[in-house]
Amino acid sequence: MPEHEVITLLKRLVSIPSVNPGHTDDVSVSGEMRLAEYLAEWLEARGFALSWDMVEPGRPNLIASYGPDTPKHTLLLESHLDTVGEDGMTIKPFDPLVREGRIYGRGACDTKGPMAAALCAFRPPVLERLAEAGVRLLFVGAMGEEKGNIGAERLVEQGWSADEAIILEPTELAAVNGHKGIFWFQLTVHGISAHGSNPDRGRSAILGMMQVIDQLQKQIARKREQCANTEMGLPTLNIGFIEGGTAVNVVPNRCTIEVDRRLVIGESGEQTRKEIREVLQRLADRGVIQSYDLETIKEGPPFRTAPESALIGRFDRVCREFNVTPRMESAAWYSDAGAISRICSSVVVFGPGSIKQAHTNDEYIVMDELLKGHDILARYLERFAEEMENMQGDR
Ligand SMILES: [Zn+2]
Repeated sequence: MPEHEVITLLKRLVSIPSVNPGHTDDVSVSGEMRLAEYLAEWLEARGFALSWDMVEPGRPNLIASYGPDTPKHTLLLESHLDTVGEDGMTIKPFDPLVREGRIYGRGACDTKGPMAAALCAFRPPVLERLAEAGVRLLFVGAMGEEKGNIGAERLVEQGWSADEAIILEPTELAAVNGHKGIFWFQLTVHGISAHGSNPDRGRSAILGMMQVIDQLQKQIARKREQCANTEMGLPTLNIGFIEGGTAVNVVPNRCTIEVDRRLVIGESGEQTRKEIREVLQRLADRGVIQSYDLETIKEGPPFRTAPESALIGRFDRVCREFNVTPRMESAAWYSDAGAISRICSSVVVFGPGSIKQAHTNDEYIVMDELLKGHDILARYLERFAEEMENMQGDR
């Protein structure tokens, strides 16, 4: 039996390294350009019009479009191009291995598997039908997801928009219709230095920071108690980094923490920043800390698509056609969907493969699931075309 085209394509995609430059120093594997060039050729051969956006040198967003320029409806499929690094991997990262029903390699699961499943769903007859029904199909290969969601943010900045979006990530074929947002910040507390033998003459930034942390913990505990919508879990706060002081015999005049705050629906980075400033200002007014700096490291909104939406309903029906029990989930992780939800009101994250295998030392995807994901996406496009044709007929 000849190899399925999805498997052939995935092996090819894995063999083209596209490691996020933030995850490697090795220029022979870093950057998204090689992969984007390959995809460009692939998409162009199928009639897509291409647009390049060189976000950083050698690091493009590739935007491929099929269908009318003034569409009635725009459907976006987005996949990040980058992978995490290959350090410590126990398999060959860029030499895909097929064994026991799995394909091994960096990116096999996150997210070249879901990407290959979608690309092979772009069959000429269905592309034609979509275009004739007034649908513009956009495929975006986005750079920089694994560190900062830079490519997706850029799409938003550039004014792209869509009516519906499918973000291709390994979700074990669940339709993830919402996930948390993030607000990462760096917080520095300033104190007053003095000789360690006379701490009363100074103001310890470390002792000040202890109070800050205590207050932040109390604040998040209150938020968790009061959280009205627990659909995507509770808001969280993790202090992932701390540094302060200069020497054992000096009262420290500086202490810094870095904090990972995860936002649920109803919360925003802006509001959270304001509330944290209020905590800091109160402590400054009481003289517990001398002063402070609050800097945002990264910020992205939570998203939620209504279960009643056409997008989720279609996934539900198509999954049933393939005897996949439809699952709708909310996730704690963050993805490009957060950014994309700013330019599209109906977003889902979907793909074969499991987040459990993402970023691992022996990353793989189960071939059966890969093919099932492909079947679902291909059928999704057909059903979508049908729906749009019927709408045209009704008019
Ligand atoms: Zn991913």
